[in-house]
Amino acid sequence: MRPALLNPLFAPVTSLGGVGPKQDRLLRYLLDRDETPRLIDLLLHLPASVIDRRARPKIRDAVPGTVVTLEVTVDRHRPAPARNPRAPHLVYASDETGDVVLTYFRAQPGYVEKLLPVGSKRYVSGTAQMYDGTLQLTHPDRVVDEAGFAKLSGIDPVYPLTEGLALGSLRRAMAQALQKLPTLQEWISPEVLRRCKFPPIAEALNRVHMPVELTDILPDSPFWSRLAFDELLAGQLALALVRAQLRRPAGDRHAGDGHLRNKIIDALPYALTASQRQAAAAITDDLRQPVRMLRLLQGDVGSGKTVVALLAAAAVTEAGKQAALMAPTEILARQHIKTIAPLAERAGLRVAILTGREKGKERRDILARLAAGEIDFLVGTHALIQDDVVFKALALAVVDEQHRFGVRERLALTAKGCNVDVLVLSATPIPRTLVLTYFGDMDVSELREKPAGRQPIDTRAVPDSRLSEVMDAVGRALSAGKLVYWICPLVEESEAINLTDAEQRFQSLKARFGDKVGLVHGKMRGTEKDRVMAQFAAGEVGLLVATTVVEVGVDVPAATIMVIENAERFGLAQLHQLRGRIGRGSEASTCLLLYREPLNDMSKARLNVIRETTDGFRIAEEDLKLRGEGDVLGVRQSGLPGYRIARSDVHGQLITQARDEALRIMKDNPKLQGARGEALRCLLYLFERDEALPLIGAG
Ligand code: ADP
Ligand code: MG
Repeated sequence: MRPALLNPLFAPVTSLGGVGPKQDRLLRYLLDRDETPRLIDLLLHLPASVIDRRARPKIRDAVPGTVVTLEVTVDRHRPAPARNPRAPHLVYASDETGDVVLTYFRAQPGYVEKLLPVGSKRYVSGTAQMYDGTLQLTHPDRVVDEAGFAKLSGIDPVYPLTEGLALGSLRRAMAQALQKLPTLQEWISPEVLRRCKFPPIAEALNRVHMPVELTDILPDSPFWSRLAFDELLAGQLALALVRAQLRRPAGDRHAGDGHLRNKIIDALPYALTASQRQAAAAITDDLRQPVRMLRLLQGDVGSGKTVVALLAAAAVTEAGKQAALMAPTEILARQHIKTIAPLAERAGLRVAILTGREKGKERRDILARLAAGEIDFLVGTHALIQDDVVFKALALAVVDEQHRFGVRERLALTAKGCNVDVLVLSATPIPRTLVLTYFGDMDVSELREKPAGRQPIDTRAVPDSRLSEVMDAVGRALSAGKLVYWICPLVEESEAINLTDAEQRFQSLKARFGDKVGLVHGKMRGTEKDRVMAQFAAGEVGLLVATTVVEVGVDVPAATIMVIENAERFGLAQLHQLRGRIGRGSEASTCLLLYREPLNDMSKARLNVIRETTDGFRIAEEDLKLRGEGDVLGVRQSGLPGYRIARSDVHGQLITQARDEALRIMKDNPKLQGARGEALRCLLYLFERDEALPLIGAG
């Protein structure tokens, strides 16, 4: 349970004055949340820049184009004449050095008069301009009297906004939220506080939202850094808590004598690559250890992770236990079983698949066999973590494409067995620093080489003005019996972005090439999708129009051509994943990146990277450089464990420090007890990394 102390921060923003349904909608969009944001979401939205109002020149010395705060006396008003209401309301004011005109367009009658009474002294702040030889402020941002001036901040934060949301209303909401900040006990150790010179969290939040110095809002300021450290520490501690649950009693070993693995290896129609062998050996070694395995197997699409996962499952089966593989999509799960089943069968390993599609008697049968220990390796989707799925002796959980699953889902799967070992498969090569941030202290195996016999992919960028040439080339390829993917970005036409609609493209290609053309997209039913995919694999469909459903895992080795429409719209990682669908067989492949002109610099750079290399690790690194970390993992929009404050470019050092701190805590106070433990639990709740707390019980 979240400490009551934090409740005010988890109140909805609509509880703040001036935040109604309209602001709610805008803030949801801005803060990327499906539900009404809470005060904490607001407070973790940090400024992007500042407006410095501290320049207080005399009128004569005001520099046009800069923000100034002037002390003036109001001389007279010239309201907009009745015959021309569109003309501005002008206020003439002065100091002893000169005159200034304050300009208001479409002012409410009486409003300006009240704000700036004739003869009064006022402080006005805004951007100075010269107009007809006179200094002018149009709609000054601030107009205050002596008392107001005493409270006026010299530096105003500027936040990333969204259209329709006024800076002023965001600032007012933020000021109210800051007022609700409870007194929090310090969770960072005195050593780290001293070494890093971190201020208390309340001071950090106050200073970034109400800066005193221009540098206060910079990501490398002590204030922002403190918040980044908190966020990273919460993340690292949560991961360390999960990891600490991974010790198992001596004698419980999860790898057998190798007889099943040897049979599988003998049955393979190819030789394992050196890195596949190394990865398999490292996994077997982990399975024999008294500490539970938490290993990430990274490898580009097509690098052969599935067979390594199968060998791991076989090792577990040899020891009389069961394994499960959870994939993020139905297609992927079926792909895995297709690779796995024939090999498993020959080795005498009993496998089955369980997705949302297995229902009724079929499902009951699978569950019964699973509970009886008659299934050794169960492959599936989210369906695996349903309550009624009970294993006899689950010992290994393989999670494919981990970053699409939350920690909760991973825990739900491992909770179905005793001391379950975890192997995470990732086809998105993740740079080292990010492995640490997202997965914590995991062991990593990499499949860096491609299986032998793979042909390089010839990748070219083509403007869509040459679409008809591309069509002709596709026609020739089809006549020659080749299999072609045609990727479109969206399923339906969106008013906002003029992207080519897959349906529409399907129709136009069908009009030209007839029944050889098929379509798969994310809104189709699973069975329907599989049917089309099977037709494509069998060559009955030669040209497959697809949305990004083919992005992950789909394996049709005979496909050698891919056209990607609006390639400039895709992220690097996604392009790489998509292209990984070809170049899987022994024939040379071609990838055409169709783009809409003109290309901006970012898109140009991205397409160049994709053209130059097929090395996923290099692409991931370039992606990190170009876009920042959100996109590398494809989590920016999805609300998965992302980081809102910490940035890998600025806070790289802090990641390591936060990890060290988390490890120290795990050593000194693994159950998070006492006052400091209490404070650390508070930190985990604050950043919503509390999922592991139930594992260690009350403090
Ligand atoms: P990943 O899951 O890493 O994208 P897969 O495991 O699906 O890759 O393997 C892609 C294809 O390569 C499969 O058809 C698989 O049978 C084949 N394959 C795997 N390892 C090798 C190897 N060492 N040599 C040749 N082909 C391999
Ligand atoms: Mg795969």
